[in-house]
Amino acid sequence: MARIELSNLAHQYTPGAEYALQSMDHVWEDGGAYALLGPSGCGKTTLLNIISGLVQPSEGRVLFDGRDVTALPPERRNIGQVFQFPVIYDTMSVYDNLAFPLRNRGIAADAVDKRVRQVADMLSLEHVIGRRAEGLTADAKQKISLGRGLVREDVAAVLFDEPLTVIDPHLKWQLRRKLREVHEQLRLTLVYVTHDQTEAMTFADQVVVMYAGRVVQMGSPEALFERPAHTFVGYFIGSPGMNFLDCALDGDAAVVDGHRIPLDPERRAAAERASGHLQLGIRPEYLRPARDGEPGLAARVEQVEDLGDFKLVTARLGERALHLRVAESEAIGSDGIELVFPTEQTLLYADEHLVA
Ligand code: ATP
Repeated sequence: MARIELSNLAHQYTPGAEYALQSMDHVWEDGGAYALLGPSGCGKTTLLNIISGLVQPSEGRVLFDGRDVTALPPERRNIGQVFQFPVIYDTMSVYDNLAFPLRNRGIAADAVDKRVRQVADMLSLEHVIGRRAEGLTADAKQKISLGRGLVREDVAAVLFDEPLTVIDPHLKWQLRRKLREVHEQLRLTLVYVTHDQTEAMTFADQVVVMYAGRVVQMGSPEALFERPAHTFVGYFIGSPGMNFLDCALDGDAAVVDGHRIPLDPERRAAAERASGHLQLGIRPEYLRPARDGEPGLAARVEQVEDLGDFKLVTARLGERALHLRVAESEAIGSDGIELVFPTEQTLLYADEHLVA
């Protein structure tokens, strides 16, 4: 397994074209599970292909355990890869499919047998291990493909490109959890590309959020939720994403449409030092209705959606729509609502970047 280092990496597909990737300077630790998360076109596949050697970066270097592999072709990088669609031999048995990458490297039959059975067991393929792949379901075939990516012990890393796309939706969560368990047992360096935040958050220790060819934040799922480093992360992570409001500073408060919202003193001091367009950010989970005559910011209730275990309220403040996730038991009037912004969870952004 390897520590992957991206050093000043940038890529243009054609000279003079827009950069598909830029300012990539990151270290991914040996044995870590990383998810590359971002919208379509943000550069995830380009980055994965640069790591595997399918694409040569126009600038910068890729290092595995400190060794520069930038010029090496894919077959000399020692990488396992799993794609969106199963890459397997239909006429071979499940066992032979899993054994193939090991036999190919001249590994002894008893070691092959042990590893194949371990991986089949982890992916719940043991009951079909003797069957030919062609008769199996699409889900089972993709599991074989996952197994082929994970079976070698000597790989530098295993790269997954949206591997659950073909999986039946109600089986996805099982397989996500399974991959997580497999990682805990095998401790391989895994890099997993997805545009699905739930997949990224359940799979990875560290989620690498990409936007327009750059990494905007790398952090634990909790850090991305609690302290998004960039407004894009706030908006992209969460369902719905974070609320943002333009604001100005006045004394110990942020002012929105003439209303004062108290701020954490340290955040306020840091915002005073920051320059640029100032916004206040708060998650729908933390914005709440005022209780018992508590002062709040008056807004109009536009919509209340009952989503089973919670209600999603859309409140309008002037032109802006704000979301609140409130308990099912909370009574929400149809006309007005007073909004409270808890100080601890009210964050500030200057020119889209988190302040303090
Ligand atoms: P998706 O989730 O849709 O696969 P992505 O995040 O993986 O998107 P990339 O496929 O890496 O994004 O694309 C990044 C940018 O590079 C996009 O603007 C895309 O149009 C461009 N691009 C990707 N592949 C090529 C190529 N072979 N030639 C030219 N431009 C490309």
